[in-house]
Amino acid sequence: TKTLEEKNRHLTEILQSMGRVLVAFSGGVDSTFLLARAKEALGENVLAVTAASETFPTREFNLAVSLAERIGVRHIQTRVSELTNADFVKNEPDRCFHCKSGLYSHVQELIDRYGETYTIVDGSNMDDLGEYRPGMKAARERGVRSPLQEAELYKEEIRMLSKEMGLPTWNKPSFACLSSRIPYGTKITQEKIDQLDLAETFLLNLGLYQVRVRHHDKIARIEVTPEDMPKVLEHHEKIDRALKSYGFSYVTLDLQGYRSGSMNEVLKEALRK
Ligand code: AMP
Repeated sequence: TKTLEEKNRHLTEILQSMGRVLVAFSGGVDSTFLLARAKEALGENVLAVTAASETFPTREFNLAVSLAERIGVRHIQTRVSELTNADFVKNEPDRCFHCKSGLYSHVQELIDRYGETYTIVDGSNMDDLGEYRPGMKAARERGVRSPLQEAELYKEEIRMLSKEMGLPTWNKPSFACLSSRIPYGTKITQEKIDQLDLAETFLLNLGLYQVRVRHHDKIARIEVTPEDMPKVLEHHEKIDRALKSYGFSYVTLDLQGYRSGSMNEVLKEALRK
């Protein structure tokens, strides 16, 4: 097995062998680290692209803009629409496939205008391999590569290396698209996305760190880490009032606590049957 230092060196080699890269940059822990390392490895031959969309909170978009500036790379800001894609709106378990397919074909069109060949890279890491990730399938089909995976880097290692580099994202909570809060088979709508964005922003502003609000029609199911549960209870009236004002009728706390991909649990159960 490789040491962390060896993996990080390998990452430099992988990036340098690509010559020119376009980083699909969401401003999250992984793609920020990838962008910073690409800049170190390739200098001016790095571009970043961030797509605004209905399901990508403005807060995250603005953060991406300031991070790209800080890292010092040219940043293409663009916009895609997911809610106009019927396959996405249906919200079947392959939803992410349709989103990422749309994103990468759009990005490819943009880059074709540059006249130079760029390898498009994303921030998928080793942890993503073990999970159900139809978005990665779309990336592969479109020729997008995942250098962090190729260098065998796991999320915790990416956080450690980010800290060493002084990147402010080293301890940023992991974030997934707001659609992942809506149960499969129920439609993604702008209204639901807005409710979720408001609700999660409210909770984050209370100082909660890792937060998900799951959308079960009239019921909001809040997931936070068990350590943060007392804080939710401390502010329970305020939270209840706020989330009801966003359109929920009942506001609940999930006693199992935060876990990533909890909407995928029904898929795993279905597979076991
Ligand atoms: P996710 O599916 O959110 O885990 O994202 C996987 C990868 O897709 C990220 O690591 C980024 O490389 C890329 N990505 C996600 N969202 C965006 C976005 N809004 N603009 C550009 N790239 C993105």
